[in-house]
Amino acid sequence: MFPNRRAVILMGGGIDSATLLKLATVQLYEVHALVFDYGQVSRGDITHAHHNAKAHGAKSVKTVALDGVFVSALNGNGTGSEVPFRNLVFMSIAAAHAKAIRAGHIFMGLCRSDVEPKTSELFADTSGGFVASAAEFLDEQGIQFHAPLVDVTKSGVINLARALGVDLSKSWSCWKSTTRKPCGVCGACKQRNRGFRIADAGES
Ligand SMILES: [Zn+2]
Repeated sequence: MFPNRRAVILMGGGIDSATLLKLATVQLYEVHALVFDYGQVSRGDITHAHHNAKAHGAKSVKTVALDGVFVSALNGNGTGSEVPFRNLVFMSIAAAHAKAIRAGHIFMGLCRSDVEPKTSELFADTSGGFVASAAEFLDEQGIQFHAPLVDVTKSGVINLARALGVDLSKSWSCWKSTTRKPCGVCGACKQRNRGFRIADAGES
């Protein structure tokens, strides 16, 4: 049903994307990366996405420009750290690109722990219901959807990255910093740092 090993991966600058790409190439997928530039104020997300796509074996890397589309603090066009419908938009573009290059697979580094540490509710398009319905729809279109990190904790992803030999010093999680140094206080920085603390302590 899914005859080829060609895949589209949605690529950001963070730990999840780098780990997922490495995992896909180790599993002998021919991976084509899409990097989304939606006007992120923290440009490290894009530069690190490009670096990691090349470093971990993507066969091609394309940048998709979506400037001015989303409302969010991440692109300086709002106050919240959610980017409403981002994953839905990304997945739709990935599906269109998969058809264009005759890829039978889409990889997405969805990670349910990617919410503000004190936020109990999940972002709507990171929920299990969204992932399941998107996967079902893509399946009907002959595309297999892969989100193997969706139930993995951040420290678990870090441990997996280390086992696969991914250099996480070349990843970028911060959504706030406009310099080359992460801010250390945004939700993504806190979650990243907490993940490293837990992984370094040998827990999971
Ligand atoms: Zn930050």
